[in-house]
Amino acid sequence: MDTEEIIRRLPKLEQHVHIVGSTKPETLLSIIEDSGAETKFKSIEDIRSFFQYSDFPHFISVYSTVNDCIIDEKYYERITYEMLESDASCNVKHVEAIFSANDHVRRGLDYEKMLDAINKGVRKAKRKFGITCTIRIDLVRNYGPKVAMTELDWIKRKGDNIVGIDIGGSENGFPPEPYEAVYKKAKDLGLHLVAHAGEAAGPESVWGAVKTLNVERIGHGVTAMKDPSLLREIRSRGIGIETCPVSNLRTAAINSLKEHPIRAFIKQGIRVSVNSDDPPMFNTEMNNEYLQLHKELGFSVDELMRISLDSIDTSFLPIKRKEELRGEFLKEYRELSPRRT
Ligand SMILES: [Zn+2]
Repeated sequence: MDTEEIIRRLPKLEQHVHIVGSTKPETLLSIIEDSGAETKFKSIEDIRSFFQYSDFPHFISVYSTVNDCIIDEKYYERITYEMLESDASCNVKHVEAIFSANDHVRRGLDYEKMLDAINKGVRKAKRKFGITCTIRIDLVRNYGPKVAMTELDWIKRKGDNIVGIDIGGSENGFPPEPYEAVYKKAKDLGLHLVAHAGEAAGPESVWGAVKTLNVERIGHGVTAMKDPSLLREIRSRGIGIETCPVSNLRTAAINSLKEHPIRAFIKQGIRVSVNSDDPPMFNTEMNNEYLQLHKELGFSVDELMRISLDSIDTSFLPIKRKEELRGEFLKEYRELSPRRT
């Protein structure tokens, strides 16, 4: 078996993938036809050419247009199922998916119905592929901390399969500090804490997530590499970084994959995961993320396997499940690559 085939078959865990951002162009078109949503998309080609971005704000505006097309809660079942089907085809065993609930509630959809539809998709994928999936709610920083507090009340009322919170959205102009009380309350509710940071804004945004929000993981973290003392702080706190290399390239957070700081993070002793973020919108999937690291940054199979194992460590799974998964991953790895141990 050649190296690329081994990489495709490596067991993986995904920590950073957005449910709506996983809508395939074909699925989006079929949802539009089924629901009669008002949209400018008339064909797959329209959608594909729309999925090209000049920068991060442009990506956010495209993402928002996709949100506008989903006008019924029921479609989340299919979108979630297909997201997990794609992950399962890359030998991903567990997914920690992100859902920006208020993006849709503010458009008139019902939070509880959406959550039920998502969990239906999760159960269906588990039956079919054996893949498991939990959810974290992205409070979307643009809506402000008051709305975020309300969202915590929704989670408290109905939190089926929700294990954490996040702040995504426009990092520039919406720093983390005003979310201090929100993150404290989320922690009291037993939720895990993550923030998108250092993707579209500088290291100060990551500092805020680390020091004020006390996050356990950082989404992206690209600009943290500009500040060695920040990298040391991330390592000493045991914070994991959810890297999304192809996404960073597509939104122009980096100019080429060779510039991606993932190696600098690992060298610093920081545990990283590798993730697809919004796979069809960035024309990627988990296998491609791993393959790009191999091709562009020279990651060996052993180094990629290390990332898979670190992704288990920094996941939000219960300790017992982490141990089981670690055993499963190592067993598959030995079978794939008998000369390695
Ligand atoms: Zn993201």
